[in-house]
Amino acid sequence: STIATSHRRTVVGLGVTGLSVARYLAARGLPFSLADSRSAPPGLAEIQAEFPNVSIALGEFSLEQFIGEQELFVNPGIPLSQPAIAAAAQAGAIISGDLDCFAEAVNAPVIAITGSNGKSTVTTLVGEMAERAGLKVAVGGNLGTPMLDLLDDAVELYVLELSSFQLERSHALKATVATVLNVSADHLDHHGSMVNYHQAKHRIFRNCEKVVINADEPLSNPLIPEDVERWYFSLGKSDFRRFGLVNENGQTSIALVRKPLLAVNELKIAGRHNMANAMAALALGSAVGLDIDAMLEALREFPGLQHRCAYVAEINGVSWFNDSKGTNAGAAIAALEGLAERGKIVLIAGGQAKGADLRPLVDAMLRYCSAAVLIGEAAEEIEKLLATRLPSLRCENMSEAVSTAAAFAKPGELVLLSPACASFDMFNGYVDRGNQFEQAVNALANKSETQE
Ligand code: ADP
Repeated sequence: STIATSHRRTVVGLGVTGLSVARYLAARGLPFSLADSRSAPPGLAEIQAEFPNVSIALGEFSLEQFIGEQELFVNPGIPLSQPAIAAAAQAGAIISGDLDCFAEAVNAPVIAITGSNGKSTVTTLVGEMAERAGLKVAVGGNLGTPMLDLLDDAVELYVLELSSFQLERSHALKATVATVLNVSADHLDHHGSMVNYHQAKHRIFRNCEKVVINADEPLSNPLIPEDVERWYFSLGKSDFRRFGLVNENGQTSIALVRKPLLAVNELKIAGRHNMANAMAALALGSAVGLDIDAMLEALREFPGLQHRCAYVAEINGVSWFNDSKGTNAGAAIAALEGLAERGKIVLIAGGQAKGADLRPLVDAMLRYCSAAVLIGEAAEEIEKLLATRLPSLRCENMSEAVSTAAAFAKPGELVLLSPACASFDMFNGYVDRGNQFEQAVNALANKSETQE
């Protein structure tokens, strides 16, 4: 139509998500332009070959570059406060992203998952439960495959992990079930304040049919009409449509309406936070009607994801855990609380704190740790907050951090890498950080074997 062709759209940011939006628009015959602030984004030649008739603007954005555009599809990695984006929004451009395109196109039920921590774990677990229940399920979003690349008429259920960045630029998702797993401070450098961060996450509930609520976390409770169906999960007791824990004969089990379903020591994933994740997945699956026995089978077998409280080795009576994905204080505190019953912990922490208040982390360290090894930009601040109340040392790289932690740890204790920070000051991301940690730990294990 003439309206469609005169509608000026630009996809901003040529990463995998941006390209998935470009393909989506192209497949619908909607004209658009592309832009990237890098002068030579990776894969440029292939992008030019794939979109031969599309204009591509490269290099740092000028302030007025996008003024007059009707719609900007902004990559989640680009802040909406970026001056050229903010100027276009001020001038009336609609700011959106891949989530709006997805909501427009999807024609099967959608489970939408966000939260500060546990997103990837819960998303993956729900996907496995649905598969076990016999559904053709597609899993992705912020994790793995961009959501637009998942769209397929054969899919019977979509399970999406959504970041606060994707949500802040979406309008109405209309999810079948939506949840905010938990809300703790993260990305405050980007969102500016806790209120903005909370509001971004709660956009997930717009026009949803059902919700899953963390009963232990008031900030996960949505402002939605009374008649929207609610399911709950809690580390406290269970009830109608509420998964919880029950203790019988010294055995803790996951329960629904006080009926035990699965003893928690049958789970392969460690820590109380992972019990919450398991129950969140059960509640999400129940809300879309997945078979409970299939869900419990998938849960029993779920080994957990790499770099998330993952057991690495035992060396001289000390157990080593890799929680490199613990990239904010809330995550690291959950990992400490989750592992504390196994022994005192030597924590390796530090990196880029993203504007967060590290005092709650330090309080947890004082409770659960026997020592700390500090790395990266936040090392000095954590050391200052500890104020000599806990033995600690600063290290320059991962192998030094591992040998220092080994020197601190006594038999029966644990060493945990859960940095509470982003990794980019020292590493190429949390995977690189976790891999370097595991390599250093394995080298230490080999050395101690040859010495014995
Ligand atoms: P996300 O995708 O939200 O980053 P992950 O499932 O990848 O979440 O887990 C990241 C880290 O967050 C874990 O390594 C662990 O330290 C912590 N974590 C996981 N689940 C929870 C939870 N339910 N509550 C608090 N922290 C959690």
